[in-house]
Amino acid sequence: MHANTIYFIFFTFLINFCCCIKYNNYTLYRGIPVEASHLKFFENLTSMFNVNFWRHPGLLYKPVDFIISPDDKDLFVNRANNLGLYVTTIMEDVQQAFDMQTVKTYIRREMDSFDWNNFFRLGDIYEWLNDLAQVYPQEMELHSIGKTHENRDIMAVKILLRGSRARSKVIVEGGIHAREWISPAFVTYLISQIIHAPVSPDPNLKMIANTYEWHFVPVLNPDGYEYSHTEDRLWRKNRHGGQAGVDLNRNFGHSFGTVGVSWRKNAQTYCGPFAFSEKESSAMAKFVRSHGQSLEYYLAFHSYGQYMIVPYADRKDHVDNYDELMKMCLQAKKRIAAKYNTQYTIGTAYDTVGYMTSGVSGCWVKQEFRVPAFDAQLYSRKKRSTSNEIYWTNYQTIEDIYNWFNHLASTQSSVSTFTVGRSHEGRNITGIKITRGSGTRAFFLQAGELGADWLSPTIVTYIANQLIHSNDPEIKAAAEDFTWYILPLVNPDGFQFSQDYVRTWVKNRRPTSSSTIGVNLSRNWNAHWGINGASFSMAANNYAGHGPFSEAETRAVSEFMDTIRSSLTGFLSFRSFGQRLLVPYAQYSVNPSGNYNSVVTIGRRAMGSLAVRYNTQYLVGTSTMVHDGATGAIADWVKFRYNATIAATYLLRDTGFHGYALPVTQIIPSGEETFDSLLAIIREARFINVL
Ligand SMILES: [Zn+2]
Repeated sequence: MHANTIYFIFFTFLINFCCCIKYNNYTLYRGIPVEASHLKFFENLTSMFNVNFWRHPGLLYKPVDFIISPDDKDLFVNRANNLGLYVTTIMEDVQQAFDMQTVKTYIRREMDSFDWNNFFRLGDIYEWLNDLAQVYPQEMELHSIGKTHENRDIMAVKILLRGSRARSKVIVEGGIHAREWISPAFVTYLISQIIHAPVSPDPNLKMIANTYEWHFVPVLNPDGYEYSHTEDRLWRKNRHGGQAGVDLNRNFGHSFGTVGVSWRKNAQTYCGPFAFSEKESSAMAKFVRSHGQSLEYYLAFHSYGQYMIVPYADRKDHVDNYDELMKMCLQAKKRIAAKYNTQYTIGTAYDTVGYMTSGVSGCWVKQEFRVPAFDAQLYSRKKRSTSNEIYWTNYQTIEDIYNWFNHLASTQSSVSTFTVGRSHEGRNITGIKITRGSGTRAFFLQAGELGADWLSPTIVTYIANQLIHSNDPEIKAAAEDFTWYILPLVNPDGFQFSQDYVRTWVKNRRPTSSSTIGVNLSRNWNAHWGINGASFSMAANNYAGHGPFSEAETRAVSEFMDTIRSSLTGFLSFRSFGQRLLVPYAQYSVNPSGNYNSVVTIGRRAMGSLAVRYNTQYLVGTSTMVHDGATGAIADWVKFRYNATIAATYLLRDTGFHGYALPVTQIIPSGEETFDSLLAIIREARFINVL
């Protein structure tokens, strides 16, 4: 049995009713850092101004939320403007919002006086739990797992329904951060749902409630919770040492003190002198240990941000059963969105909020109570019979794509096919041309240069499908304003060979000597050919060929490009993987020429737009600046030969953890975000008048 830890982070504005500290005219701002200097500015903000972060700075393009005192506002806005940092006001006066939050009093033994339209003080929550336990003496138990520094009880609730088939346990943690009032409110809601499940009309709820033994700690930080009601609405830590206090969610024994914490006692994220130095965190650890044997889920609830965060918070890579957890989160995300269209972002802390942290409760639980062996990602390529339909739930085959193209050409007046030539083994290199409107300028999307790259052909068919069928006004306009050429499989021989024999095959399939086969087509174009990042050894995976355009495939594509040269406005090459947008020319490290600056601006903004949906982070620059510096790429050649306004190479998901073996569950998300960014490229290019 292993514990699956997931944090849910709500979006709700923090709220108040408290007496002492008032936040009158404190303004809530949101800024998006798009340059390193912006991030630095945010990171140093507390030393310059009286600020309180609600969403800490992490990566570029990740929103940062913070409140600033009325005295500091003008100077702050000035400084931000000088840096070219765009800041929006989210709430002019946070105190007003706090004042609208109502705190109600629970009346003992009147169960209905407890509700989820208001917040409640600690004593009221505990009284309600007591009364509920008396109504359900068989099913529900209430007990203290320990005392706080100010001698309050940390209460836990156990629910085991009658007739339950429970073999394993769930622990739900709430209120570790004092000011996140929605967290205890949600956990009490969940308690109410589980205890009342037997009379619920919802069969799923009944089933789930009956499957586990449930344990809840609705308020893990009672002292801080009370302090946030009576003294400071924005109090986050516990109350050990008064103003010092320790951030309990940095105090657990997982990578304690290593990253994303402060050792300054006054800091919001002070981790404490040593792991489990605090009564609350050590009581929780003892409690979890007592159930560790059969613990299956550990869920912790925070506000805010709409994230589902999975372990581990202290690293960038995805380990253990990360993929399995992501599948669960994806299901949960869909269910949440189905209700009120609330959108959650899922991933590790680094993937979602954009920074790493340590000493986090759930990470410690996961590390202590289960370490499933890393399960290598296996997926099967389902051969599909000839069909007019195409899917993006799996990687596509050559037949899938070409059959679909033929189907489109025979059923859609806006679609025709074109064949640029044949591969070394005689396969067609075929694409489709989409003309929905009268736009004569052409956009060319190319993919599938490397055999092992199964993702990029599937992504460009995804884009084609949107351009052909969507009635969204922006998509329709983009489809109509240009003639679109989409060529998904420049290297069909290598692609087929990778699908049938050697999964990692990247080159084409032309024998280059008696013992070697294949040229790397992504190095074979006549743009600084063979200067960087290519090999002249015929056995090498990055063999550049015996000269530019030595290969049938690159020659055929280049000859076709010549025929549309007068209309060619945009050219995008798609490849997996690396999460980069490479702009011409690969070899440049300083003072790039041409319209480099506009293309980088467009690219950065477009990659910001790409990140909106799933927080996938791309770097933008020349290959030397942000990748491997390899020359001889098709986009550079197109830029050099035709001077297309927009020319760039997408290195798609991911950054190497799965590499070519990207799980199929990521295909559609990749398609969605890539398409978002394509629209943004057009939008931004128009905005700065280059299109
Ligand atoms: Zn929190």
